[in-house]
Amino acid sequence: MPDETLVANPLLAPSPLPHGLPHFALIRDEHYREAFDRGMAEHLAEVDSIAGDPAPPTFENTLVALERVGQTLSRTSLAFFGTSSSLATDAVQAIEEEYAPRLTAHADAVRLDPRLYARIRAVHDDEAAMAALDPESRRLVERHLTEMTVAGAGLDESAKDRLRELNGRLAGLGTQFEKRLLADSNDLAVLVDDVAALDGLTAGEISAAAAAAAEHGHDGAWLLTLVLPTGHPHLASLTDRDLRRRLHEAQSSRGNRDNANDTKALVLETVRLRAERARLLGYDTHAAAALADSTARTPERVMDLLGRLAPAAARNIEAERALLEEEAGHPVEAHDWAFWAERVRASRYAVDLAAMRPYFEAERVLRDGIFHAAGLLYGLTFHERDDLEGYHPDVRVFEVHDADGTPFGLYLLDLHTRDTKKGGAWMNSLVHQNTLLGRTSAVVCNNLNVPNPGPGEPTLLTYDETRTLFHEFGHAIHGLLARVTYPHFAGTRVFRDFVEYPSQVNEMWMLWPEVLRSYAVHHETGEPMPQELVDRLVAAQSFGEGFATGEYLAAALLDQAWHAIDVEEAAHVTDVGAFEQSALAAVGLANPLVPPRYRSTYFAHTFSYAYDAQYYAYIWSEVLDADTVAWFRENGGLTRANGDRYRRHVVGIGGAADPLESYREFRGADADIRHLLERRGLG
Ligand SMILES: [Zn+2]
Repeated sequence: MPDETLVANPLLAPSPLPHGLPHFALIRDEHYREAFDRGMAEHLAEVDSIAGDPAPPTFENTLVALERVGQTLSRTSLAFFGTSSSLATDAVQAIEEEYAPRLTAHADAVRLDPRLYARIRAVHDDEAAMAALDPESRRLVERHLTEMTVAGAGLDESAKDRLRELNGRLAGLGTQFEKRLLADSNDLAVLVDDVAALDGLTAGEISAAAAAAAEHGHDGAWLLTLVLPTGHPHLASLTDRDLRRRLHEAQSSRGNRDNANDTKALVLETVRLRAERARLLGYDTHAAAALADSTARTPERVMDLLGRLAPAAARNIEAERALLEEEAGHPVEAHDWAFWAERVRASRYAVDLAAMRPYFEAERVLRDGIFHAAGLLYGLTFHERDDLEGYHPDVRVFEVHDADGTPFGLYLLDLHTRDTKKGGAWMNSLVHQNTLLGRTSAVVCNNLNVPNPGPGEPTLLTYDETRTLFHEFGHAIHGLLARVTYPHFAGTRVFRDFVEYPSQVNEMWMLWPEVLRSYAVHHETGEPMPQELVDRLVAAQSFGEGFATGEYLAAALLDQAWHAIDVEEAAHVTDVGAFEQSALAAVGLANPLVPPRYRSTYFAHTFSYAYDAQYYAYIWSEVLDADTVAWFRENGGLTRANGDRYRRHVVGIGGAADPLESYREFRGADADIRHLLERRGLG
């Protein structure tokens, strides 16, 4: 029986609102269920008729046809997943739990369809027809083919059975890894029976430790619970050296105690099965398979980058060690590093971030900082549209106009924290631009978790919140400016090792003198921010980068090393610790003072969180970021000419072109790692 409330389900047709903004005022939770159900059924039927088309496969009847279908499903997914973290009510979470696995199964049914795969391959293998396509269309064929190949669509039935087995077993191993790691972390939490040993911690941290102890049945004691990375934050402040040693040893031994929670066997089996799966899919190693879908493209290029950064990090670690030992008056060990680094920071690079806050009034940061910079660079203007409704009354809606006045899309801002919002900050697309379906504009949304000010008080952002807003707005600009033909390439649908790059670049405008002067004025006195505050901050930024870069690179290298071995090599690895040691030594990062940010036995990103062979992505995009910042500096900074060039080759192209080729057109050269080294003081 059709439910009356669903008769006018607004998700079942394109929204009539400006720029296709979802009609949130009319959307009820139950509309999502119906629209997902109908959307998946409709999409499957559409895909089935493309796959079963008796006509010989062509670009038009296969690829373009695929891009045109599934509109109800994509409209619904964008509206739902674009808001589900901002309005995570029980009802929304229940829909998410129910539909996430069904949507995954749906996506698998499409990308593993052997008929579809055969058609796409036939289009791809027709060299003359491919040569006649425009570059974006050619890329569309290649991307679809690679994505389906990596998923296993090209396998025969028995190979597909083995693939399903491997995927199932690997998923189970990932879950086991996470479970054992959690259990071992809990077992290893450090119990302290004398509060004097906690000297250096804040009152809040001490009472949290007392509460944790009570919760675990140790009334009257203190329990230091562990964190995921090797370095525990308390190591920077605990004055008791012996306690620091205990805490560091607990952190480092997780998953490596030959007990029921040991993870070494899971690591070895995971690595073996991933290598086997890669071979099944036609790749030498798991890293090669994982990087087929990346900007880097091959494990060799990732290793080349990491290998070139490693010596600079190792040199700086030595220089930092000398400073720390001078301050300490004795040789430092791994558990001393953060403590003495903090002392050196306080004595030589003190920065008063709290003193900056009165200059970061949210509305001014937004209008006179972030929008102002986007105006100078890209010619964009922003007009608040009070007549348009977001998904919550807190959400503000701005219409974006291009330099010639053309309305260009909508920018939604959901700045403040609330009970139904998940933590963190992020950007979502609610509507994707693409000319194939006649969508001329995009709708994007930024979320932050800034606490609400008291009644009548202005919202003053912290230094970090201000930087986060510039960062997230960089993602928003990326989503807004993309101009593509096919939905597959819309907005920020780019590779994982590329997606953070434009947002990191946008952070540069926060302290750019012209922008800072425009927005950073004291909210009461109207005085500009003292230059001295900014100078101290800049001076402090590169201290500690030897350690930070070294521990990150060590982890990224381990992640690559474990996945750069083939089936035969994987069969011979039996000692996790020895493998780890030799992989680190090979690049000069086996320094016991600076252990990897994650050791293999607790490297959840790579053995459980699906970052396998991709943990390098952070520094890969930062190399592009630093090189781009250098380009802006060399070419006069914040000008329309620079913005237009960056837009034309980088932020305006979505996923429609090869990112590194476009980068080369923008820069006139490949990104030079020198700029990242300089930024981090590693030159
Ligand atoms: Zn980001």
